Amino acid sequence: MGRAAARDRPFYLPIWYTATPAERRATPENTYVRTEGMTIVLADGTALDDWTGQAFVNNIGMGRPDVAQALADQAARMSWLGPADFAEVRLELTADLRSVLPRNLTTPFYGIGGSDSIEAAIRAARKVTRRKKVLAFTNGYHGDTMTVESVSGTGVSEYGEPQSWAVHTISPYDAFQATGDWDRAAERTLEGIRATLKRHGPRSFACILVEPVMGSAGAVPFSKDVSKGIRELCDRHDIKLVADEVITGLGRTGAWWGSPAVGLTPDAVVLAKGLTGGYAPLGAAVFERSWGDALRKTGFPHGLTFGSHPIACAAARATIRILKSERLIERCKAMGASLRRRLEELRESHPTVVRDVRGAGLFLGMELRARGRRAKGSELHPAWRRVKPIWRGLWNAGIRVTTNNDGSTILLCPAFTVTDEQMDRLVDRLDFHLHAV
Ligand code: PMP
Repeated sequence: MGRAAARDRPFYLPIWYTATPAERRATPENTYVRTEGMTIVLADGTALDDWTGQAFVNNIGMGRPDVAQALADQAARMSWLGPADFAEVRLELTADLRSVLPRNLTTPFYGIGGSDSIEAAIRAARKVTRRKKVLAFTNGYHGDTMTVESVSGTGVSEYGEPQSWAVHTISPYDAFQATGDWDRAAERTLEGIRATLKRHGPRSFACILVEPVMGSAGAVPFSKDVSKGIRELCDRHDIKLVADEVITGLGRTGAWWGSPAVGLTPDAVVLAKGLTGGYAPLGAAVFERSWGDALRKTGFPHGLTFGSHPIACAAARATIRILKSERLIERCKAMGASLRRRLEELRESHPTVVRDVRGAGLFLGMELRARGRRAKGSELHPAWRRVKPIWRGLWNAGIRVTTNNDGSTILLCPAFTVTDEQMDRLVDRLDFHLHAV
């Protein structure tokens, strides 16, 4: 192709586009044209087993004709209704959610995705507590607007500005990196929370925000002691406890919600991603009854035009129906247990390479041991020197995986419909590459 033709080819700026050489070569060869189940297909016909869940979204499998039909039916009946009005499909979805949520979580506010629904929860906490601060964890991730990036524990972008009300404390992942032991990491996490609250004045906090299984940090489940300790602190100081279940919600951990599995009893959960299985954008902050009642009384003037989109609500209804009727959460639990067992076996056979296997359900992480020291100023963990060739080797074998923030951990987050053959292929290739690094 000539230079002029190349320049005229349509181009868009993808999310998190870093303009690396590979990204700059946007050619038909690296354009995806089809998705089915957990398979993603490139224009040249290459098919990849996708273990990333496509940004941790794909839980029921992509390209299902029955979901497509549900979306078409909704578009024909009510393609759109302004977000300030009550719509049948929004109420029906609320009833569906209440049939699977913990009983005290009754009152949803619907948004578009994770970031804005996190913002809804923060605003709602500020409204009822009349306080400003939010406590979150280093290396946590809660979204990427100019506000929420300050709450995410990965630092703000070069064009952002840290918000003084967003306060961070050491996460279980970072405490594990510092101590090398999960029990000590739990103690250090809880001590950190207590000390941070004390330093800032506990009664200046509107909410504490936690991911029951930290996602981008590296599939790190909360310890029950930490969950219990946080609940006690929230009760003592009248702080709202918000669980970011954007990844863990809707079955990912092998149960409907990630919070109960780690002993967490939040005052609100935030959902997005798997809520619609990726068939449409939707998020929700679901409030505990008395918090919801308070907002109902005072009003909650907050929101975006496309929040609670009727077609997205229909997608969420179809997702919940499929999770129930096909018993996919039970399947997630069983397949997750099987994958975990096999990853543990790999750890036993490669003890000098694999440091840790962790996670819940079909959201698992395999952390590798460091090779060398952390390069000065680098955000990358020294284990990335091992993870990178494995990542590339898997890709060449038709298997796509992703990693955590600092590159120490391979994350596995397949559709709940993942097959034994797909799992065999992954484990076989992982074994091969663990030998090589
Ligand atoms: N919370 C968590 C735990 C997430 O993983 C993400 C997205 N990766 C978000 C919030 C933000 O969601 P969204 O990208 O839909 O705004």
